[in-house]
Amino acid sequence: MQKKKPLVISELSQYYFYNCDKFVRLISDKDNGNEIQNNNNGGTKKNHKTINEAMKNRGIDFELKVKNKLKNVIDCEKNVDYTMNCLKNAKNGQIFYQMKFNVPDKFYDEMQIDNIKLGAFVPDFIEVKERNSKKEIMIYDAKASKSTHISHQFQVASYAFLLEFIVKKINGLFISNTGGIYLPSSKSKTTFQLENFRLDFFLPEVNEFFRKKLPKIINAESPPWHYNSRCRTCDFVNVCRKDAKGTISMIPYLSLAEAENLKTFISDGKSDDDIEDIAKVIKKLEIGSENFSSSEKDINRRIKHIVKYDKRLEKRSPYLKAKETNQAQFIETPTANFPQKTVHNLIISMSLDHYLSRPFAWGICLYHNSGHEIENHKYSESISKNDVSLKSFIHLISCFVIVLEDIFKYLQKYESKACAFVYSDQEKKVIQNVLLEIISMDESNVSRNIQQSATKCLFNLFEDSLLLASQNNTTESFKFPNISKEWRDFPRLIVLERAISENIAFHVPGFYRFIDIRDQLVKPTLKDSKYNFIIIKKNDDFKDIEYAELENIFKLWAPGYLNSLKIINDLHLLRNDFANAIIRAYYELLKKSTNDISSILIFIPPKFTLTEVENFKNNYL
Ligand code: SF4
Repeated sequence: MQKKKPLVISELSQYYFYNCDKFVRLISDKDNGNEIQNNNNGGTKKNHKTINEAMKNRGIDFELKVKNKLKNVIDCEKNVDYTMNCLKNAKNGQIFYQMKFNVPDKFYDEMQIDNIKLGAFVPDFIEVKERNSKKEIMIYDAKASKSTHISHQFQVASYAFLLEFIVKKINGLFISNTGGIYLPSSKSKTTFQLENFRLDFFLPEVNEFFRKKLPKIINAESPPWHYNSRCRTCDFVNVCRKDAKGTISMIPYLSLAEAENLKTFISDGKSDDDIEDIAKVIKKLEIGSENFSSSEKDINRRIKHIVKYDKRLEKRSPYLKAKETNQAQFIETPTANFPQKTVHNLIISMSLDHYLSRPFAWGICLYHNSGHEIENHKYSESISKNDVSLKSFIHLISCFVIVLEDIFKYLQKYESKACAFVYSDQEKKVIQNVLLEIISMDESNVSRNIQQSATKCLFNLFEDSLLLASQNNTTESFKFPNISKEWRDFPRLIVLERAISENIAFHVPGFYRFIDIRDQLVKPTLKDSKYNFIIIKKNDDFKDIEYAELENIFKLWAPGYLNSLKIINDLHLLRNDFANAIIRAYYELLKKSTNDISSILIFIPPKFTLTEVENFKNNYL
């Protein structure tokens, strides 16, 4: 049996983020550290910072900011003896920072676990409050996150659960029933806010986890797991990608619930699921369908939906056809999420600095629907890692809104039936957030003209912008624009990854990477030589499409090399060119699959009209 390393609570709590037994097994295996490092550096230069590292560093810095703002903080320097001494002599109002505790033997005895070891645990903050001559301690953790997640609450509740074994030996000291998470504040004038929650809701789950779930996972011969798009941010993404080949994860973007359904139906008592078994399942469904009970009919419907059943195909599922041909297959799900026809396609890319949670680069390109670029409408801009000041950030986004508004005017002038595209959900969110940030900024930082342009961009790009603006307290002073109902029915901004995951089957596990899309969709579909620069794999650094993945752009930007900005700009343009090729390939594949395109792509965007937002004045002025 492989040696197990002590489990760290902060890592263990991510079980509740990924909902994955295999994750726990991998963090407990002694040598996984090397594996992670090798994987994170695979294919790119050594020593580049990863997104996960940047987010961890952002977390550490946020924790320090909280520490520096709080009053009466005592730094315990992660020293166990000093910690115990402080705790015994705790006084009302004190806040202990980084108290370090060893897990007492009593915990293992009571949980009846003997082959699992937990590492020392270090809650970020412990506050002492005196009530009715009793001293209570409140446990808080700091998270540089937009909102509280169940994994954060599990972490704080686990600290409380473990601390109970220690505190009950100290006279007059109790653990409060309230825990809390410090989060960055959404209000510009404060650094953080405390979100409290009731610990007693979580403690039964924590007890169940340590007593039953954890031993079961650690002792299982092979813990259950499923590889899908949530794995993208997991440290083990590359390990599991290899393991997922041939399993039902070869139906990408399958939710955990759908995977569970499918596994239950195909496993027949064997431990491994196999993509090939789907063909047998479908046969079974077809043969028995006439005698099915209503509940069996329901299962039948669910399975057919999951495998995108298509009776015209020999093996009845486009995923099995993709396996056979190693080429992308069109699924033919009727959709309102992709335009039937456009005249122009506006493609936007934007990269996020995961440390500051602000963009550091963008690219905007306008293409004709034939795939040609529109002259003088191709731009990209970035700022250096060594100058991420507010001034540089505002300059970067000012250029973005000026270019975007300019392209909107062009589309209006030509009454173009146009759509805007981003490749990923992340880019959509980043663009929304950055426009809202500019709109709600103090006028001493950003000009009124730029704020007005940003407002126009927000309202013209996002169908839910009124709601977004009200959530961010920016609507009070708007005169609401008279928005054409016609285009609000159709998303003006299309997320390409969503559109292709909905309607194109690839033979790859979990989720689509650019190299998969190039090899299985763009290359076999687009024969025009103008796409060769995307299709042909490049050996020179930073010219290959793989480098235009957001994770890889970030890895290149984060070390702050002086000469990388031109490459960063070019990679955003390459990313847009690739998105343009994907759109073309989407239509080509659809045309090969059916003549009745209008029954699949339901909407044609209306002529572009630029909605004006008048009387702009935001709350903060
Ligand atoms: S990559 Fe996915 S399947 Fe693998 S451990 Fe992480 S969450 Fe689990």
